[in-house]
Amino acid sequence: MTKIYKGGKKPAVLDFNLEIDDGEFFCLVGPSGCGKSTILKLIADLEKPTSGKIEKKGRVAMAFQSAGLFPWLTVKENVEFGMKMENLAQHEIKARTSKYIELVSLAEFSNKYPRELSGGQRQRVGLARALAVEPEILLLDEPFSALDPLTTEELHKCVLKIWEETHKTILMVSHLLEEAYLLSDRIGVMRNGELIKIFKVEDTRPREETHKSFSILMRQIKKEFSNK
Ligand code: ADP
Repeated sequence: MTKIYKGGKKPAVLDFNLEIDDGEFFCLVGPSGCGKSTILKLIADLEKPTSGKIEKKGRVAMAFQSAGLFPWLTVKENVEFGMKMENLAQHEIKARTSKYIELVSLAEFSNKYPRELSGGQRQRVGLARALAVEPEILLLDEPFSALDPLTTEELHKCVLKIWEETHKTILMVSHLLEEAYLLSDRIGVMRNGELIKIFKVEDTRPREETHKSFSILMRQIKKEFSNK
């Protein structure tokens, strides 16, 4: 598919063609402005492709970089919000809210407001809210980029736990190669709106950045950026 924004001189996304397996953790990497977020917006139906189409085998939910929580709602109410929009039965909303707040380890913060939480905790609420609508496909738009390294590490563990326990298909966008290596099955490298190469990460999880294959992969990906 291709996406040209209104008034845009060149395509934000050009001839993008990718098949993601059920239950796969796929990460798109690339420099700022290369079209990563546009891909997520197209998949989430927040934008329409100029040409081409997207086939989805299930429902999609997205967790954003800024967490996007409603400041006037508590953690619990924020998680409930999406389900209320879907008119789910009250007992189902209650059960899922506890389940997903538990999954992101925030049970004791259920009645707190976003302003009373740390950045990492807010991101986890965003994840719980996206998961609560029980999508088959979870989109993560640089969800860890504004956090300190320790919090990021904690959240990586949280996302891996979610992925392992729920078998969701995850498409994450990141500009950090470390993050892509630590989490994903495959890494798609983007440049100027095009998907230029896909790398498969074979190492078993949990992974360490100190692993030799990480530096090899880094070198290969950086070569892709300088090649074209
Ligand atoms: P990334 O997520 O990799 O930083 P984006 O998908 O946000 O990249 O942007 C890709 C390109 O599309 C950039 O050149 C950006 O300026 C442009 N773009 C993004 N959103 C819009 C929009 N709503 N209207 C016009 N141009 C946009």
